[in-house]
Amino acid sequence: LAPLDFAATKALFHLPEGVIYLDGNSLGPLPRAAAARVDDCVQAEWGDMLIGGWNKAGWMDQPARLGARIARLIGAEPEAVVLGDTLSIKIYQALAAALQLNPARRVILSDSGNFPSDLYMAEGLVNMLGQGYSLRVVPPEDIADALDENVAVMMLTQVDYRTGRLHDMANLTRHAHQKGALTLWDLAHSAGALPIDLSGCGVDFAAGCTYKYLNGGPGAPAFIYVAPRHAAHVAPALSGWLGHAAPFDFSPTYQPGQGVSRLRVGTPAVLQMAALEAALDIWDRVDISALRAASITLSEMFLTGVQDRCPELRLASPRAAAHRGSQVSFHHPQGYAIMQALIAKGVIGDFRAPDILRFGFTPLYIGADEVRWAVDILAQIMADRSWDQPQFHRRSS
Ligand SMILES: *Cc1c(COP(=O)(O)O)cnc(C)c1O
Repeated sequence: LAPLDFAATKALFHLPEGVIYLDGNSLGPLPRAAAARVDDCVQAEWGDMLIGGWNKAGWMDQPARLGARIARLIGAEPEAVVLGDTLSIKIYQALAAALQLNPARRVILSDSGNFPSDLYMAEGLVNMLGQGYSLRVVPPEDIADALDENVAVMMLTQVDYRTGRLHDMANLTRHAHQKGALTLWDLAHSAGALPIDLSGCGVDFAAGCTYKYLNGGPGAPAFIYVAPRHAAHVAPALSGWLGHAAPFDFSPTYQPGQGVSRLRVGTPAVLQMAALEAALDIWDRVDISALRAASITLSEMFLTGVQDRCPELRLASPRAAAHRGSQVSFHHPQGYAIMQALIAKGVIGDFRAPDILRFGFTPLYIGADEVRWAVDILAQIMADRSWDQPQFHRRSS
């Protein structure tokens, strides 16, 4: 199949009438083919095959099969990625594995821009391990200097969920290795947003979710990457039966499976993976470099448009496109109400406490027209202060 161009891909998604969706970095929209694919999985597989679906419909191999398709998007070896569980769990597993591979050291190093769940999982792990393990959190710009002889693993989210700041994966990974630390990269806001070269950068572990830029749907499973050089040495902390070398021997003792498959835990989310398959049918035909170029064009259009016309909004993202992921964020003390007013006008972005308005740019279904309209609507709301109405100040969960 020929690569898809971005004029064609929009038609492959269901987007509600009258909506400009700038929140695909939180939850990607529905690929039109997903509904039929899920229906087929329900009726023809679950319905007609019953338990035979595990073999006949290939449910058991789905986590590895879909992992190999995601591998291309993140520069990974095809056999080094497997799906399952949620990103928080995959972070826990990867951290536990990294600590065990670097046993003379006791510190997990991360940055204050990381998503809370990643930090919480690290906290839970070090509390459980005891023995002097700790989590050290420093500002993003201080990571390189904080890499010392105590750091066992550097855990970073490549693109900051609030500001969109993009870490330099190649340099920080090289630096961490020079200092004797292993690396764990969270790709939640980079997979499907920009080119990633896990293998070329020599990354040790990575994980990400599939419901953001990858459009796998709410609750879609996470993925985990383990560098092939490490996979055979990982002793899984969550040693579930489907990570066992021979799950159907029902042996009373655990034997880790081949390679990354040992990081499977339990029964895969078959229906969710059917939806994700439909999303990956689109991704299989996307050229990631072209996607990145289009994302930069759209982000720059939005950023310069808002800076020109909404001077009260202060840029929260790096100004240089090369230092941003695929989102643009602004500060405003009334950010919550402004976002509610925008959503009421059909422009869906999101708000992140305490004061950040966040907009994601996803060339698969957003083009220059939508970006122009979004800037117009935001400029209008700021000019007429229509955000300052009681219904826009009321908070929901
Ligand atoms: C979205 C996101 C998560 C979410 O984790 P789940 O377990 O899938 O809910 C975790 N970490 C980062 C960096 C994220 O952006």
